[in-house]
Amino acid sequence: MDRALYIFYKDLNMHHQLEEVAGSFEILPFFLWSEWLNQDVDDTPSLRYRLALAKRFNDTVLPQGVNLLTGDVDIPEIISVCQLYKINDVFMRKHYEPREKEFQERLVEELTSFGIKCVLLEGYTAVPVGAVLKSDGTPYVKFTPYYHKWRTKLCASKRRKVEVNWTLQGLVPPILDDSSHVFVEEDFKALGKFLTKGWQHYSTERNYPYLDSTSHASALINHGGIAVSDLISHLLSLPVHDEIEAFIRQLAWRDFYITVLWYFPYSEDQNFDRRKKVNWSNQAMDFFVWCQGQTGYPIVDAAMNCLYDTGRMHNRLRMIVSSFLTKDLLITWKEGANWFKEHLIDYDLALNVGGWQWAASTGADSVPYFRIFNPIIQSEKYDPHGVFIQKHIDMLHGVATDRIHEPQKYGVPYFAQYVDHRLTQKNIGQYFQKVTITKN
Ligand SMILES: Cc1cc2nc3c(=O)[nH]c(=O)nc-3n(C[C@H](O)[C@H](O)[C@H](O)COP(=O)(O)OP(=O)(O)OC[C@H]3O[C@@H](n4cnc5c(N)ncnc54)[C@H](O)[C@@H]3O)c2cc1C
Repeated sequence: MDRALYIFYKDLNMHHQLEEVAGSFEILPFFLWSEWLNQDVDDTPSLRYRLALAKRFNDTVLPQGVNLLTGDVDIPEIISVCQLYKINDVFMRKHYEPREKEFQERLVEELTSFGIKCVLLEGYTAVPVGAVLKSDGTPYVKFTPYYHKWRTKLCASKRRKVEVNWTLQGLVPPILDDSSHVFVEEDFKALGKFLTKGWQHYSTERNYPYLDSTSHASALINHGGIAVSDLISHLLSLPVHDEIEAFIRQLAWRDFYITVLWYFPYSEDQNFDRRKKVNWSNQAMDFFVWCQGQTGYPIVDAAMNCLYDTGRMHNRLRMIVSSFLTKDLLITWKEGANWFKEHLIDYDLALNVGGWQWAASTGADSVPYFRIFNPIIQSEKYDPHGVFIQKHIDMLHGVATDRIHEPQKYGVPYFAQYVDHRLTQKNIGQYFQKVTITKN
């Protein structure tokens, strides 16, 4: 049997999706780690998480004596491995970020020039990017019509069990971090619980951070601990239920944002809607106060503390803090996105930029400029008993429920409100109305 190189990247544990390859080749597993592809950071919670998944894969999936080959590599090293082990076929899943696209185009071109065949496989998204387009062949930039078409493309595919012939016994084990294995195991456990019966109250409970009733699937999906298509196949095999549909709809947002970034790569660091010119104030002190969780708005501060301490943040809280940074403090979404990149375990470029531009009203299908989350109302509504706030702000332990959302009003010792939301709501509303729309 010929040997093929399989390049794992953000798709660890998708080994069982190797139907396309496993029957015909012995597989040399290669784990791609590149600082350039990692957007020039080398030690963040999300990267440590990915390394922990790689270690888990190495230790639990590969047979004794076979190890993932890895290292900070570029294409010449991949070519050298192919030449060393007489490999003429290389497989990798297709990835969609701008740098990934550039890398994979070069990979195919350079391997081909050495007579090595390189095949890029689908599977990182639930539905292949490019399979959900408008009738005129252009990409959707509104979620709802995208979702309706995307939904028609889903089908439960029963994967056959594949026996993989891993090759190259006895290679030196790679150095893989497993300091984040606790988070990985926590996530597998939480997802298992969610899939057993947690989904039953998904739509009613998913907005309440203190209930912790979402799936915890994001980091596993983004780093390849599970394949989103397998997750969807499982959901479709369950009895039809509105709650399952609500969850599947959320998964569509992931494909939507990945698609938007693929077709509009400039939106990685520019407003998706290029006609919107926003004059951010970008005051360093304002940003510092937000990062430190000292805005004086307990729900914002608790969310920022939670992110810093745990690497996690509930979706509702991401919406609240991103609105606060971009609209109350007038700091560009890029600063917030960067802070999230450095701290989130489930960090993903497309979803992060999509979420931030949504909040800043500069993105595809984003919130209208006049919708500014009121941190006190949000707090009263989504953390009514202050359970989440008390968990992440020691100073507010034991404060009565009716005082915890705006402690200053009742003389409870706490940071002063850094900005007056009622005023900024008014001013920023005007400010955003003045956004200059210039015709292209
Ligand atoms: C400012 C901002 C930044 C964000 N940054 C990221 C990020 O870096 N990485 C990331 O994975 N998600 C990001 N999100 C989306 C969302 O907050 C997380 O996907 C979600 O909180 C993950 O928790 P969960 O898996 O328990 O969610 P669940 O509610 O269980 O959702 C299931 C899955 O659906 C997808 N999903 C759910 N909500 C969204 C959404 N709003 N946008 C896109 N996909 C969604 C995710 O894949 C998620 O794992 C961001 C949202 C905002 C507002």
